[in-house]
Amino acid sequence: MSTKYVYNFDEGNKTMRDILGGKGANLAEMTNMGINVPYGFSVTTEACIRYYKEDKKLWDTLNEEITSHIKDLEKHNGKTFGNNEDPLLVSVRSGAPISMPGMMDTILNLGLNDVAVKGLENKTENKRFAYDSYRRFIQMFADVAMGLDKNKFEEVLTAKKEEKGVKTDHDLDAEDFVDVVEKYKKVYKELAGVEFPQDPRKQLDLAISAVFSSWNNPRAILYRKLNEIDDKMGTAVNVQTMVFGNMGETSGTGVAFSRNPATGENVLYGEYLMNAQGEDVVAGVRTPEPISHLHELMPEVYDEFYNTAQTLEKHYKDMQDMEFTIQEGKLFLLQTRNGKRTAQAAVQVAVDMVEEGLVDEKEALLRVNPQDLDGLLHPTFTAEAVKNAQSLTKGLAASPGAAVGKIAFSAPEAAKRAKDGEVVVLVREETSPEDLEGMVSAVGILTARGGMTSHAAVVARGMGKCCVSGASDIHVNEFEHTLRVGDVVLTSEDTISIDGSTGEIYAGALATQPPQMHGAFGKFMQWVDKYRDMKVRTNADTPRDAKQALEFGAEGIGLCRTEHMFFADDRIFQVRKMILASDLETRQAALDKILPMQEEDFYQIYKLMEERPVTVRLLDPPLHEFLPKGEKEISDLALDLKMLPARVKERIAELQEVNPMLGFRGLRLGVIYPEISKMQARAIMQAAIRLNKEGVNVVPEIMIPLSSDVHELDYVKNIVREEIEKVFEEQGMEIKYLLGTMIEIPRAAITADEIAQVTDFFSFGTNDLTQMTFGLSRDDAGKFLPAYIEKDIFEKDPFQVLDQKGVGFLVETAVEKGRKTNPALHLGICGEHGGEPNTVKYLYNVGLDYVSCSPFRIPIAKLAAAQAAIEKNK
Ligand code: ADP
Ligand code: MG
Ligand code: MG
Repeated sequence: MSTKYVYNFDEGNKTMRDILGGKGANLAEMTNMGINVPYGFSVTTEACIRYYKEDKKLWDTLNEEITSHIKDLEKHNGKTFGNNEDPLLVSVRSGAPISMPGMMDTILNLGLNDVAVKGLENKTENKRFAYDSYRRFIQMFADVAMGLDKNKFEEVLTAKKEEKGVKTDHDLDAEDFVDVVEKYKKVYKELAGVEFPQDPRKQLDLAISAVFSSWNNPRAILYRKLNEIDDKMGTAVNVQTMVFGNMGETSGTGVAFSRNPATGENVLYGEYLMNAQGEDVVAGVRTPEPISHLHELMPEVYDEFYNTAQTLEKHYKDMQDMEFTIQEGKLFLLQTRNGKRTAQAAVQVAVDMVEEGLVDEKEALLRVNPQDLDGLLHPTFTAEAVKNAQSLTKGLAASPGAAVGKIAFSAPEAAKRAKDGEVVVLVREETSPEDLEGMVSAVGILTARGGMTSHAAVVARGMGKCCVSGASDIHVNEFEHTLRVGDVVLTSEDTISIDGSTGEIYAGALATQPPQMHGAFGKFMQWVDKYRDMKVRTNADTPRDAKQALEFGAEGIGLCRTEHMFFADDRIFQVRKMILASDLETRQAALDKILPMQEEDFYQIYKLMEERPVTVRLLDPPLHEFLPKGEKEISDLALDLKMLPARVKERIAELQEVNPMLGFRGLRLGVIYPEISKMQARAIMQAAIRLNKEGVNVVPEIMIPLSSDVHELDYVKNIVREEIEKVFEEQGMEIKYLLGTMIEIPRAAITADEIAQVTDFFSFGTNDLTQMTFGLSRDDAGKFLPAYIEKDIFEKDPFQVLDQKGVGFLVETAVEKGRKTNPALHLGICGEHGGEPNTVKYLYNVGLDYVSCSPFRIPIAKLAAAQAAIEKNK
């Protein structure tokens, strides 16, 4: 049996999105639910895939199937294609298995030709409407299906308006459109070299092929890349009977969410335009009315729509994003899908739906994409700053957050300036899919036109990026690079602040503050903690970081880097002295000065962390990183040290390395200068004992970096241990402590069975481990690694998403071998990857006890860990 490539709407359902696409599957589902959906059929993604393999053969089989489905459609509607009394018209809409908003173009009113347009006129007794529809169709078909220059058509229309002395299409009459249609057909012939196709079937075939081809247009490819969507999925094509929102004042079209997609509030939320067709609402051409007004205008239609939205929500058990059209007072649903939402809304909806009994807690947790929480963890403007600032004007609060940056007036400009290190806000009249790259580069987006569902708003919410749309008082001149509001004129040199949560726009830079964690988010995180069994710690070097991390729910510190403490103004001198010392005595003198400072740092951190585990790493980077570089700094230092500048330079030169990453760093420092390790061990233990004496039960975890061999590690470990014994004796108190190492050199992972015998814990330093496994310098990879991603050699940057095959193999090996010889071994990760959701899930399954990540990523890592646990127990 040959593959079935075409399904009528009543032959499909929502589980068939892989072949019918999301749009098609949901149209089928709604049809079967008895919702009023214009009838149609879907050509499958399998046809699209085959189209790319063997276009000709596909059409041989597809032809017949389409013919028979057109027959069904004609029968269903009691209309025929190209009829001169009541013609069948359809839309041709793309729809991939994963929604790609605005990425592929829809053709409306297909089936119109010189005969059918008369039929439409006869049937509706509305000549203006008939010819308006025809001219729209010719233009869309020319542009979308044939790729002809749409400006040439716009020129005709503009000329017509000038000739009539009117401003908008609205003011043109039937005869004007008859004339426009004639001219359009001429333009079409000029550009395409053939007549505008009069055969509806030919129109349809060309349109279907065009949708297939659009799967690989640059816009679609970029969108898939950004959203990690598989290129091989293909798109389905939906052919659907037209309904008309542009038949007069009792017709209209709109889009709506069953709940507010910005905040999650449980109210119908959307926009509509009366006497309008298709994309008029989302295109931002006219500013639409809020859906609540429909309640007053057409109460019955509103109620029906409201009830449909409720039904769909209950059915899908999720917030819905719907498109509808009203044709002469009759409501039709044209699309539904699970709505995209801000992180704030995602959490709010998840929590509300549990309380409404629609989903359970676990399901609610699985609903929220961990990465999306990032949007919630972003700063807002401080109340103080807002109070003292005079807002320039206000737009729509399209996507929450606070953005401060210099103004960029075009997408390419935004991309370029961002690349050069500038922080920019993209300011546009309105955005289109071509602006995507610029939107990615900008910290925020501001548009003059378009509603809450305009391109800018939808895309920004998807990215979790601050956006203010439809700020109608601003005048953007892309060519002169100016933004004007009343008398205020801003240029690319100026900074603006935009508030995506209120819509306010300010000149200058407003102060921002970290996010507040309460309300639905607090409840949500409680559930996260309830279902999660892997711990989440933070990487924090200072009491300030640690405090921030505690607010985000850190359960300990997985990595406290002592070198950051060395850089503080008041200590760097002693540190430099210690490094430059040519004899032990001078070095020890400097270390003695550093000791109390380090002890105080550790004391403060331990105190703040209140008995939560804290892993302190002994000094790791190559020593020369601490030395001064400029002439003046060097001579100042020489003066202080009572050394000759030449001698200082000589010593600096001695410390330079050809390969510092593989050089004199990590525990190697302790092998050569044991006094440094001793000082640090002493500082840690003295701080911990002080707290224990105060009744705070601190159990220090001391981490030795960069080991590659058990003997090397054992050597440094013994130095540390002896010093600790001394401290115990001096203090007259012994406390429990752990001594562990980082696994960041492949050899350490491979010999983990030996290493585990002399340590209490492993912490995977996956930054270095990735660097060394790939032989890929972290500091130089920027020069070539991006090209690997671009050329599809690597799917992802291995420094961002852990490479499970290679680096993961080493991690798994170390876990297995380590636990074999030391079953009590504690396991964690402190690399950058510890906050990346996919990596967190992977490491959970590998069996780590905890991950450690930067403070702002804690809720993300926690949710990923909870989801991993829920998925595992399913
Ligand atoms: P997108 O995926 O970009 O939203 P759609 O296929 O949903 O593209 O359609 C674009 C616009 O055309 C939407 O406003 C939609 O409601 C409208 N539309 C699509 N098909 C029909 C139809 N059969 N009748 C009336 N309007 C339609
Ligand atoms: Mg749509
Ligand atoms: Mg390291």
